[in-house]
Amino acid sequence: MIEQIEFEFQKRFGDQYLIIEAPGRVNLIGEHTDYNDGFVLPAAIDKAIWLAMNLNDTGRIRLFSVDMNEEYDVELTSSLQKSGMGWPDYILGVVDQLRKHGMNSVGFDCVFGGNVPIGAGLSSSAALEGGVLYGLAELNGWKISTMNMAQIAQKAENEFVGVQCGIMDQFASINGKESHALKLDCRTLEYDKIPFRDPDFKIVLCDTGVRRELTGSEYNVRRTQCEEGVSIIQKSHPQVKKLRDVTIEMLEEYIDQMDDVVYKRCKFVIEENRRVLDACDDLEQDNIGAFGEKMFQSHQGLQHKFEVSCKELDILVEVAKKVEGVIGSRMMGGGFGGCTINLVRTNTVEQFKQEVSRDYLKQTGLKVEIYETTISDGTRVIKSTEKQTTE
Ligand code: ADP
Ligand code: MG
Repeated sequence: MIEQIEFEFQKRFGDQYLIIEAPGRVNLIGEHTDYNDGFVLPAAIDKAIWLAMNLNDTGRIRLFSVDMNEEYDVELTSSLQKSGMGWPDYILGVVDQLRKHGMNSVGFDCVFGGNVPIGAGLSSSAALEGGVLYGLAELNGWKISTMNMAQIAQKAENEFVGVQCGIMDQFASINGKESHALKLDCRTLEYDKIPFRDPDFKIVLCDTGVRRELTGSEYNVRRTQCEEGVSIIQKSHPQVKKLRDVTIEMLEEYIDQMDDVVYKRCKFVIEENRRVLDACDDLEQDNIGAFGEKMFQSHQGLQHKFEVSCKELDILVEVAKKVEGVIGSRMMGGGFGGCTINLVRTNTVEQFKQEVSRDYLKQTGLKVEIYETTISDGTRVIKSTEKQTTE
């Protein structure tokens, strides 16, 4: 893949460039906790987007997507418009956002492609944004902290692409560390690196193949329900700003004043947030079994209390549970489709693949894509040709 990207770059733009590797990410546990100011536990993975980049003196942004086999070329004017093509917007959004932070790049060239499955919930979008941002910072000599980069990339997706994502995806893709999960406090943006390096277990992702439009609208409904819960509790606990500040005991006081559905939603978030903290302790104590158990519990909550799962995700978790050596399995991401994340004993991964593919096909008529993955470093430069034009 990298060779092909270099070849395409050389063909179009010359032989001076940087190669950036920008990974996708998983979230081990902590779903729908981010916008409730809680904790999440993501990690960067060994599936990535690679970008060959250099500045140019044409006053234009010239892009080529290897995977889409499409190019896009636009003048670097003061007001960038959406491309109408999809993928260029993730790149233009970063340029737009950098400008709003006072960083104006000259024209640049970028050829990119990768192996992060697109739209499967492994954050190919964050990888692309983070990769472009990292590359532009290197080429222009801008010093931007990695957390700041994550914030800029998130804003690019919020404001230019128009997707209201939290900061987790960009943060994990940019800041990832090999063999470590990142315990991120979504309120303060402080984070800890938690060792995750049990060679006896593999992280295996199973893609339902299902993509549902529902995600956006249901996501907004869930956010509103969480806010509704907070506003009821706030009346007598003014210190409560988000569900992160609420304990189960506090919630129970309001069980009669709260709509049943709102109560269920809040209960899930409070429990899930607790699970992230406990799961981190499990990792610190090398108790991978207890960690996996919390993944199952997380799925249960997402299925029955937060109600963002779907038939295909539930089947994948049920089927996985029956395979020998599976110690944890849950849906990952916003819900209604996408992937499950599974912790599988290394010596049963092959058996896992066979049984899950067979049973999923039997029960749904669908083919599952299965990816083994390891936790990797975040966005970085992996190659630099002799001299860039800026030096
Ligand atoms: P994901 O869960 O993978 O982040 P999104 O819908 O948020 O899914 O982002 C996917 C979009 O990002 C694609 O539709 C495309 O516009 C862009 N994208 C991601 N990876 C690539 C790639 N390798 N080549 C071109 N565009 C990509
Ligand atoms: Mg995305």
